[in-house]
Amino acid sequence: MHRIVILGAGYAGMAAAVNLAGRTKRREDVRVTVVNATERFTERLRLHQIAAGQQVADLRVPELLEGTGVEFVRGWVTGIDATARTVRVDDEQVLEYDTLVYALGGMADTASVPGVDDHAYTFDSAHDAQLLAQRLTGLGSGTVAVCGSGLTGVEAAAEIAEQHPELAVVLIGREEPGAAMGPKAKAYLHAALERLGVRVRAGAEIIKVLPDFVELAGGETVAADAVLWTSGVRVSPLAAAAGLDVDDRGRIITDAALRSVSHPEVYAIGDAAAIRQNYGVMHGTCQSGMPTGVHAAMSIVRQMKGKQPKPFRFGYYHTPVSLGRHDAVVQFTKPDNSPRGWVLTGRRAVWYKETVTAAPWPTYGRMTKFPSSGSIWPRGGRFTR
Ligand SMILES: Cc1cc2nc3c(=O)[nH]c(=O)nc-3n(C[C@H](O)[C@H](O)[C@H](O)COP(=O)(O)OP(=O)(O)OC[C@H]3O[C@@H](n4cnc5c(N)ncnc54)[C@H](O)[C@@H]3O)c2cc1C
Repeated sequence: MHRIVILGAGYAGMAAAVNLAGRTKRREDVRVTVVNATERFTERLRLHQIAAGQQVADLRVPELLEGTGVEFVRGWVTGIDATARTVRVDDEQVLEYDTLVYALGGMADTASVPGVDDHAYTFDSAHDAQLLAQRLTGLGSGTVAVCGSGLTGVEAAAEIAEQHPELAVVLIGREEPGAAMGPKAKAYLHAALERLGVRVRAGAEIIKVLPDFVELAGGETVAADAVLWTSGVRVSPLAAAAGLDVDDRGRIITDAALRSVSHPEVYAIGDAAAIRQNYGVMHGTCQSGMPTGVHAAMSIVRQMKGKQPKPFRFGYYHTPVSLGRHDAVVQFTKPDNSPRGWVLTGRRAVWYKETVTAAPWPTYGRMTKFPSSGSIWPRGGRFTR
């Protein structure tokens, strides 16, 4: 019996699980187990919608896995023994593995600025987003400070401003919103934020979060009745604690086939992995996370057949950004994520963004029956060759 344990049922872990299910369904000698903190699939791409008070679908992982032969364990992974090849869940259950797929994702970095852990809301789970939604609904008036001017911050600020016109929204961060986009997309994004009444405070270094305000370097303060923290990414310390080679952000360093360089029986995928392509180490996205999961599944099956896994190649192709429910902008990109001249805006962009956001769940369902349907993604051409 070859025991495969997948840690995390997010975008990458689910892709690995359903693809393995599809590829091993006729094999009696393979057992696949998925461990996740919740039964509910966290649609991270919709957390800003939840925070703004919208209802989103309640997608259940065990329901999707029903009939696939994949075992689901609900629990919190508390330790990995990479020598004994075991995983500890909720400090009590022990799972043995022959191959481990590490897909625990990342969360907002709430540790590097004092006060964030105590006073700020995050988008680490649907529950966290719901807590912010409750706070915003109860406010009636006041200011929401969205800290972090990356795309998560932009989407959150726009969504909250649109759904809560009674609240003032200020978006605070080091870089100007849409900094990595081309001039056309960036100008569109800025105009949309202005139309929605979002005040942008770029070039700001946040040094402290207090119950009623955010303090910036230089002494300036921004009054805030609610603070959302979207800045930075932190990963689980479990991989480093288990002795796996990790980078300076705690992500597992992988070889070209997505195996840990120190522990080749461990595959690392999604946001928790430091995956190098010719253009640099990939940054975490859903568009890249799902292919890493599928590639890990294909590689594990190849290895079980005595073949060598192939190198993983991926090229980015788009950056879709919602600007509330009625507006969006899509920046199409080169494989290294630099902007192309091609941009979608307005209603066509809203449709595009929603199509992309809604796609993963039905894709997982399809992969349990037709696993090769998940193997189509842009390989990056000359950028990754
Ligand atoms: C608000 C928001 C908007 C975003 N928008 C986009 C977008 O438009 N496009 C895009 O490409 N990307 C977007 N992203 C980024 C994208 O969501 C991530 O890159 C993607 O979720 C990474 O997938 P993953 O499987 O690695 O991790 P995740 O999806 O985070 O999954 C990790 C899973 O592991 C579980 N887990 C973690 N630790 C433990 C533990 N110790 N024990 C048990 N379970 C655990 C979690 O509960 C979760 O289910 C967005 C992110 C946010 C927060």
